[in-house]
Amino acid sequence: MKKIALLGSTGSIGTQTLEIVRRQEDLQVTALAAGSNAALLEQQIREFLPEFAVLWDEKAASDLRVRVQDLNVTVLSGMEGLLTIAAAPGSEILVTAIVGMLGIRPTIAAIEAGKAIALANKETLVTAGHIIMPLARAKNVPILPVDSEHSAIFQSLNGETENKIHKIFLTASGGPFRGKKKEDLQHIQVEDALKHPNWSMGKKITIDSATMVNKGLEVMEAKWLFDVTLGQIQVVVHPQSVIHSMVEYEDGAVMAQLGTPDMRLPIQYALYYPKRRCLPGKRLDFFELANLTFEKPDLDTFHGLKLAFTAMEKGGNLPTAYNAANEKAVSLFLQKKISFLQIPELIQACMERCKFTKQPDVEEILETEADVYAYIESRW
Ligand code: NAD
Ligand code: MG
Repeated sequence: MKKIALLGSTGSIGTQTLEIVRRQEDLQVTALAAGSNAALLEQQIREFLPEFAVLWDEKAASDLRVRVQDLNVTVLSGMEGLLTIAAAPGSEILVTAIVGMLGIRPTIAAIEAGKAIALANKETLVTAGHIIMPLARAKNVPILPVDSEHSAIFQSLNGETENKIHKIFLTASGGPFRGKKKEDLQHIQVEDALKHPNWSMGKKITIDSATMVNKGLEVMEAKWLFDVTLGQIQVVVHPQSVIHSMVEYEDGAVMAQLGTPDMRLPIQYALYYPKRRCLPGKRLDFFELANLTFEKPDLDTFHGLKLAFTAMEKGGNLPTAYNAANEKAVSLFLQKKISFLQIPELIQACMERCKFTKQPDVEEILETEADVYAYIESRW
């Protein structure tokens, strides 16, 4: 029986993780955590009977405690709750599927407790990769990527431990505005940006795909996960989302993972690595796929992607400024308070005013985040 703790159980990745648990008889959920969806969390507690559950807000958690008192579950709240379940002895793997930098501290706690990490929460690596990766190596804990591109790279590295990566081709669908120019994007509405052509995901990451900031975050995530330089990562726009990413080796051989766009595959692969399990769903039909096409990313229109390369090159706390500014900007865009094109503008402004720290510790990362939030809140 494999025992898993799941942060972000009510979200897009979280609910798909539970779909896998439901189908497999040798997976057991020992802890569930969610932000505010108490009704769904209660349903999940009743179905999966974890030892622990966490709701962020203490008042909501105390209401839930009363509602589930017929069950043998301990309901906790806040960061304390997340840290407790990340390190609790009952689980062997932590699936981190929350959004934002909130994921950093629980991930560190889980690694310190010797748990394997199935990582969807890319913000943790983007902002704290320099802390997480050495710690995981020191504790001999695997970081198993759940992000589909990184899972594809991870799968393409199978059996190649002796061989160096020459290049990574990180594929991107290009989002709903592929081929558009800046002038075309001036009056984009929230509803348009939420229409992803291939993947169905949470709102934040769907907007990030439309701005291509998601690909920027993924470039940084790949750099940390696979220990490559920025020059070794090439973003390739591939609108069909069939090739999920590729690795080129020194002899020119390119290995790729292909499949229909279904996040359950990378989630399940991380849970059972290195084994594969049956996963019912639509399969690729190569006769139906008339062609696979590739384009260079348009860094002028999708300026947010270009800024990610700058943030990563300079390093330090700049990726944090990039990520925090984007989180705030996306939230303002979703509230219709700023325009689509203002998202990269805000990111750039926050990067320019960021007080640079070369090796930020967790405190300094969270200070940079708070500083960016305060700046944006004071102006918008
Ligand atoms: P989502 O918004 O659908 O879900 C987020 C989850 O986090 C929810 O369960 C929410 O309750 C929980 N959460 C939020 N605030 C919390 C708090 N304060 N305390 C505890 N829990 C809290 O997001 P998602 O799309 O599932 O994405 C999750 C992560 O996975 C993100 O980092 C995203 O970039 C990454 N990711 C998602 C996908 C995808 O297909 N959705 C693909 C690749 C990577
Ligand atoms: Mg991805």
